[in-house]
Amino acid sequence: MKTLSIELAIERLESRGVTVDDITDLVFDLQTPYVENLTKATCKYNVVRVLSKREVQNALLTGIELDQLAEEGKLQQPLQDIVASDEGLYGIDEIIALAIVNVYGSIGLTNFGYVDKIKPGIIAKLNDHADGKCHTFLDDIVGAIAAAASSRLAHSEEGAEVPD
Ligand code: MG
Repeated sequence: MKTLSIELAIERLESRGVTVDDITDLVFDLQTPYVENLTKATCKYNVVRVLSKREVQNALLTGIELDQLAEEGKLQQPLQDIVASDEGLYGIDEIIALAIVNVYGSIGLTNFGYVDKIKPGIIAKLNDHADGKCHTFLDDIVGAIAAAASSRLAHSEEGAEVPD
């Protein structure tokens, strides 16, 4: 039996075409304007801290599972069509992602909104619907992990106590 772990979370992300380095790049681009001498290693550290949290792993596994079920046509209607077509008014993909964003407080929300709007890097790739895959939940989850890691990084740069 598989148990919840950061290794499993990373494995699931990679099975859907997303690496820790992809998310690290998002954090680096988001935070470079605000943090002097920021390194990718620091960004990656914060991404890994976010991925190590149970609520993050739960949200990630849930979202990816729903994406895959939709891809295989296994959801009941009308949910099947709503998720498979990434219907704009559905909104539950963003709600699941908020479970990740909220881990580091309200700064995360601003970052999440920004990522959702500009759709940088891997997010744009997940959104282009070119590979016949369904990433309705995953694009928001990846954006949320990057937003949460950015918030964690910003808080720790200010010397604040950051919950692990
Ligand atoms: Mg979405």
